[in-house]
Amino acid sequence: MVASMHLYELIADNTTDLVCLHDTSNTIRYATPSAKTILGYHAKDIVGKRLTDYLSEDFITEMDFETLQRFFDNPGARIRYQVRHADSRLRWLETTFTSISKAHIKEVIILSSTRDITESVHLTDDLMEALSNEQEISNFKSNLYSVASHEFKTPLAVIQANIEILKVKSGEKLLKLSLTSMEEEIDKLNSMIADMLQLKKLATNETPFLPADLDMVQLLEEVIRHDVAKAFPDIEVKLNFDIKGKPFILIGDYSLIRYVFGNLLSNACKYSNKNSSVVVNLSEFDNHLTVQVVDEGIGIPKKDQPTIFTSFFRASNAVNIAGTGVGLSIVKEFVKKHEGEITFISEEEKGSTFTVTLPTK
Ligand code: ADP
Repeated sequence: MVASMHLYELIADNTTDLVCLHDTSNTIRYATPSAKTILGYHAKDIVGKRLTDYLSEDFITEMDFETLQRFFDNPGARIRYQVRHADSRLRWLETTFTSISKAHIKEVIILSSTRDITESVHLTDDLMEALSNEQEISNFKSNLYSVASHEFKTPLAVIQANIEILKVKSGEKLLKLSLTSMEEEIDKLNSMIADMLQLKKLATNETPFLPADLDMVQLLEEVIRHDVAKAFPDIEVKLNFDIKGKPFILIGDYSLIRYVFGNLLSNACKYSNKNSSVVVNLSEFDNHLTVQVVDEGIGIPKKDQPTIFTSFFRASNAVNIAGTGVGLSIVKEFVKKHEGEITFISEEEKGSTFTVTLPTK
């Protein structure tokens, strides 16, 4: 008898789980020394308390305390919960309750056994995150394939058609026309491939960020000259800024900022009717540069506006105009990298105004 008592004591003193005996009101009457590891308190200090006294504040708010209490008062249940350890860190615990009713013990008592499962909860969280990333990557890939197969096909078909014509017909004028048309389609293909690569780099965190002093007037003029004037000769693009004021200097990454305004300006022209105009307003106020790109184009339908920055999303009125739906999502990320903001207002068949605000410091 003495030997077996000694053995029980040995087990109780050395168990890594926290084993407690509770009275009918669920108050702890006995706790093993492992209370120090599991909750951070000496066993004697948790006697007279309830396990619910150690719940973390966030967990109580999230789960509703009364429901939690019911679980704890229901012997036989297994419950997972979060506590604040005495070292102030949050830990996840799992407790199983067993009712003990023995002839020689007058009242029903409850035995609880508690284990720290923080690591396995974190492992599960990590796994879930990895799985959802995996899901995102798989969605991303299937979107990419479908865009590639639809959008890349059109320019290739135009190039193919031009080659076929040139095989059977000749003439300087025809050759010139065909070459121009093929060049335009190759430009489109190049810009789509560049978008896909930017998106892939963003998804894999490989976008370089090399800030330098950028003269915004110069940069916007470059974008207008190189990115839009050639591709949209029928659209007049005007840049407005205070000529007499000080230079508009932004500390930013040249390639990213160039991409932002290249995309916004190309979109403004692409989604406009021939012979309309696009206006770019540049201003500075309170250590912030604001660039507004205003067009009189097809606009964005109200129902499509909330998802316009989602990659691969295209508005319902844009389906007949070539595009991949990735530019704006990249623009948004690049603006965010500069701690800036992008907003827009748009009305169908009236036009759109995209506004980018970037801190100059
Ligand atoms: P893309 O133009 O290649 O489709 P973007 O990501 O640049 O991709 O734009 C996403 C969508 O937003 C476009 O497909 C179009 O529906 C809409 N959009 C963007 N800019 C404009 C604009 N200035 N006017 C009208 N619609 C626009």
